[in-house]
Amino acid sequence: MQVRRRIHVAGIVQGVGFRPYVHRLATERHLAGQIANTSTGVVIEVEGAAEVVDDFVSSLSAQAPPLALVTEIRVVEIDRTGASDFCILPSDPSAAVRTLISPDIATCADCLGELFDPADRRFHYPFINCTNCGPRFSIVRGIPYDRPQTSMSVFPMCPSCLAEYEDPRNRRFHAQPNACWQCGPQLEFCDSRGGRLSVEDPIAEAVARLRAGDIIAVKGLGGFHLAVDATNSSAVSRLRECKRRIEKPFAVMVSDLETISRYCMLDAEGRDLLCLRQRPIVLLPKKNPCLLADSVAPFNSDLGIFLPYTPIHHLLFRESGLQALVMTSGNLSEEPIAIGNSEAVARLGEIADWFLLHNREILLRCDDSVLRHTGGRTRQIRRSRGFVPVPVFLKREFPPTLAVGGELKNTICLLRGHEAFLSQHIGDLENVEAYKFFQEAVDHFQKILKIRPEIVAYDLHPDYFATRWARKLPGIQTVGVQHHHAHIVSCMAENHLEGRVIGFALDGTGYGSDGRIWGGEVLLANYMDFERAAHLAYVPLPGGAAAIREPWRMAVSHLWASFGPDFLKLPIPFFQQIPQERVLTVLRMMERHVNSPLTSSCGRLFDAVAALINLRHEVNYEAQAAVELEMCRDEAAAGQPYRFGLGEEGDLLQIDSRPLFRAIVEDMLRGATTGEISQRFHDGLVEALMSIARVLRKRTSLNTVCLSGGTFQNTCLANGLEHQLQSEGFEVYTHSQVPAGDGGISLGQAVVATHRVGSEDLSSRSATDREVEKVP
Ligand SMILES: [Zn+2]
Ligand SMILES: [Zn+2]
Ligand SMILES: [Zn+2]
Repeated sequence: MQVRRRIHVAGIVQGVGFRPYVHRLATERHLAGQIANTSTGVVIEVEGAAEVVDDFVSSLSAQAPPLALVTEIRVVEIDRTGASDFCILPSDPSAAVRTLISPDIATCADCLGELFDPADRRFHYPFINCTNCGPRFSIVRGIPYDRPQTSMSVFPMCPSCLAEYEDPRNRRFHAQPNACWQCGPQLEFCDSRGGRLSVEDPIAEAVARLRAGDIIAVKGLGGFHLAVDATNSSAVSRLRECKRRIEKPFAVMVSDLETISRYCMLDAEGRDLLCLRQRPIVLLPKKNPCLLADSVAPFNSDLGIFLPYTPIHHLLFRESGLQALVMTSGNLSEEPIAIGNSEAVARLGEIADWFLLHNREILLRCDDSVLRHTGGRTRQIRRSRGFVPVPVFLKREFPPTLAVGGELKNTICLLRGHEAFLSQHIGDLENVEAYKFFQEAVDHFQKILKIRPEIVAYDLHPDYFATRWARKLPGIQTVGVQHHHAHIVSCMAENHLEGRVIGFALDGTGYGSDGRIWGGEVLLANYMDFERAAHLAYVPLPGGAAAIREPWRMAVSHLWASFGPDFLKLPIPFFQQIPQERVLTVLRMMERHVNSPLTSSCGRLFDAVAALINLRHEVNYEAQAAVELEMCRDEAAAGQPYRFGLGEEGDLLQIDSRPLFRAIVEDMLRGATTGEISQRFHDGLVEALMSIARVLRKRTSLNTVCLSGGTFQNTCLANGLEHQLQSEGFEVYTHSQVPAGDGGISLGQAVVATHRVGSEDLSSRSATDREVEKVP
């Protein structure tokens, strides 16, 4: 039977070679019809024998081009026209309003082949790309995604490039960044003040300087990197000094997989992650000894490794003798990554000896993404380049909503229908430059996605920059969302859960509904509201933010809570390392309630244990003490898990860590190793959380558990708790598409806000909205 069907395809199907692909699929099957871009994707009409048309439809998403993402296929029967050929119709310029923009994608194998083929006209061309690879998100100014709306608009294509661009059979058909030596962007090599050097081959010059141990600022896809030879200790140390980055690990770009396996333990999952077309940074266990400079990742048993992902990177490595380059974000300390040429020279001129620049403008910065594979799944640590702006697809439809995220590791989120668009990593908003970037990102995302939010969600912390910004917005419905509620709902939304769950939200800091600093929270939560069911018992945070930088203060706080004033008499090694007058000052602060807000933070609990066993008294980057505590575990030496206490205050359960600290002190007095103590602590925390889960299941009959919050980046805790919960029949959900840390809360904020507004329960909203007592 002959039929004609109209097929609507939604998703990322424009500017990714989808129309030529469909053309080929149809003509191979001798089907007639047409294809056109529309406002929501593409619409195809095919005519031919019914079984051939069926086969065509089922092949549509299965063999789609690499950058395409098909989210929906709808098929309707229509009247036959008797057409005999298949054609690609021209785009309607007014049409493209709801299509998705592809992320930036690593150089594909075909382009790589041409890059190193002396006979190819793009031999060694540092900006080679095609429909299947290259820049997208970082060069888009607006939609429809077409060359004039990208930063390639200033490079008119030469006749050869234009011919490729217009030929549906060509790999560069409608590849907007298409370019060559004749018509496209070019590299230049500059000194530390941006003065251009007349060198024949900027790549060869950069390679020579890197080999000599110099620091080079390299303009990449989503921003600048600072590069040095990762095997050269003095070069890496100098970079640390100049960048004012003391111990936080550097990411390392390595020429190929084989070389990576000389530095790291590489299993099949690690290989797969490294080779994703996003080419993320992957956290892998270091080999011991490791051939890279120690200063690349001091006191750390992991390395952040990635493969070259732009033609410039490939050119730097190929035949250069370089095997591993530190490629760290081009910024000073915690500022956002530099993207403009003159901006980079101004900001990085004191750090970099040289600049490898180009004239293709980066319109919106996008850091490298960071992933890890553990406990049988991939976890996003930082979701940026290669993943943004692909949406997270939600189960329900939502009104246009903006969520402005938290303070640290900020991301924003825009909801539209079934799609949640999380921004790239924006950074810590207490940094002025990061706050500017936040505002840029809000504008840019609304523009390229054509979303005008009706609701704006923000964190309850009255002093967060994003919160203050949101609350000043005129004439728009704003909704405050509690930090840990946002964590749990983010996990629920990502996993398409409905109803109520038991949510474990463990992190460093989040503003509580009682105005205290929460962080060790167990919530009974749904999309609308939550009940705080359990938390780590409050202890003072002596010195506020100072206690976060100096974990030894938390050790004193817990010792005081566990032993009373007598703790000073304990003959533990801790007191030999911390001067007594400092301990006494902290004690007086707590006794007099001066600058000692109460906290239930789980991150601070890890800090206290790490400091007490003299692993780390002061940190140089966020969560350093907790990371090192996890890494020092000695599974073989471990005994019984430490026991926590369990208190009750009405329905609210409290996890009491006093028995834990008494046991640790006892262990220290008998000379137990840090490895043993760390392992018993991790196991004990899992056991304490399990006992909460059991009580809550009994009380509520809920069996679904969500795990969220930055503390779950601790793989021992995350995997241990998940495994234990599952073995007792709980259904456990964690994150895989968005980070468990604060980079993921904007999604939860957005979803909670839409439910609150949708419920018309405005009275309860204004109650949570009210500013509560200020956290120092
Ligand atoms: Zn390509
Ligand atoms: Zn050209
Ligand atoms: Zn958090």
